[in-house]
Amino acid sequence: MQFISKKARAIAPYTAGEQLRDRTYIKLNTNENPYPPSLRVQEALAAFPAEELRRYPRPDADLLRAAIAGQEGVSPENVFCGNGSDEVLALSFPAFFDTDGAGACFADLTYSFYEVFASFFGIPVTIVPLRGDFTFDLDALARTVCRGYYIANPNAPTGVGIGRAEMERFVADVPEKLVILDEAYMDFFGESCVPLTQKYENVLVVKTFSKSYSLAGIRCGYAVGNARLIAALCRMKDCFNSYPVDAVAQAVCTAAVQDKAYYAGVTQAVISERTRLQGALRELGFTVPESASNFLFAGRARAGGREIYTRLKEAGILVRFWDKPVLKDFVRITVGTAAENDALIAQLKQILS
Ligand code: PMP
Repeated sequence: MQFISKKARAIAPYTAGEQLRDRTYIKLNTNENPYPPSLRVQEALAAFPAEELRRYPRPDADLLRAAIAGQEGVSPENVFCGNGSDEVLALSFPAFFDTDGAGACFADLTYSFYEVFASFFGIPVTIVPLRGDFTFDLDALARTVCRGYYIANPNAPTGVGIGRAEMERFVADVPEKLVILDEAYMDFFGESCVPLTQKYENVLVVKTFSKSYSLAGIRCGYAVGNARLIAALCRMKDCFNSYPVDAVAQAVCTAAVQDKAYYAGVTQAVISERTRLQGALRELGFTVPESASNFLFAGRARAGGREIYTRLKEAGILVRFWDKPVLKDFVRITVGTAAENDALIAQLKQILS
């Protein structure tokens, strides 16, 4: 008997970056923050009463949503929280797209989960290529027949960002189409389009606690948009899991959004290391598009992506490699601490010599 559905057999799932535990690695492969969560977050975690775990968490994470709303300058009804921004993005597909008619549009080189979600929910997709220098062709996107867009800004794995003014022109140009902006890495760029959600009804911004808040392990992300869009996400959530954000995550993330000053410092430290590492990589002969994120897309050097990835791994340094057209000439390197970046540069010098 075949117990497994046709869909489960046929779908190509997303491949996450390696989470190896066989030895100590300098881990620069999944865009985690090299700095710890703030002291306030650590205190909130330590002070969390175990007794609370007897009960289900707040189903709509209302205290956390209020804290996020305060930080983003919107109302709680404009915020939706999920189990990582991956879950928020996943729920957005059935919330805003149908299995028939015009579907979702996104770039050829972008976060590969969009394609998996579309396929999982049976939503048609139109792919628009990036330009040769990895920038978005927003005019080509605007001309595409579709119901809406997924744009990672800054983009992954390229790191390239689109400024708020340029994005506003695009959003205003496509008033009948929904523009879903995946701002997972936006804090390292500082051009968030959250303000546009107050002005345009066709913008939804998705953010995460995994990167700039150093909380990838807690699994929490959120969307900001007008109340009608947020209500649709809530309906989808309640068709799938009423309690996606656990009680500990709600407490910890609430503490995190209240610690703006600490995270501003950490973000600045990542940005200045990014500038230094980008310069060092270019000096070694890598092509590196200008990064607006906490990682660098580096390639077209004397060694190919696979060789660099393999030899770095042998030396105990993990970076991300994809065996796909264009991407295979590159590796994606998360910005680490100064010491981690120094170790990486030293290894790369050896590999390329
Ligand atoms: N969007 C982009 C562009 C990402 O790179 C990631 C991290 N893999 C996510 C969303 C999801 O992050 P999380 O589920 O940890 O919030």
